[in-house]
Amino acid sequence: MPSVLCKCGNKLSFGGIPNSIEWLMISDDGFEKFQGSVDAEYIYREMNSALKCSCCGRLLVFWNGFDVSPISYMPE
Ligand SMILES: [Zn+2]
Repeated sequence: MPSVLCKCGNKLSFGGIPNSIEWLMISDDGFEKFQGSVDAEYIYREMNSALKCSCCGRLLVFWNGFDVSPISYMPE
């Protein structure tokens, strides 16, 4: 299973379905494209994945898919 290393040293695995540490995000503009009943798969493809580290709370956001390193956001 693929994984990424958090800056705290915790290894975060992704690729599992479902993944309990993965959150899905979509911009409000992106969501506006969808009206009425839609196939969840269409919305899923528009979303960015974020992994939440259970050790330090950082969010590692994959803004450009899983082939590009994620950007890390740390809680204040
Ligand atoms: Zn961490």
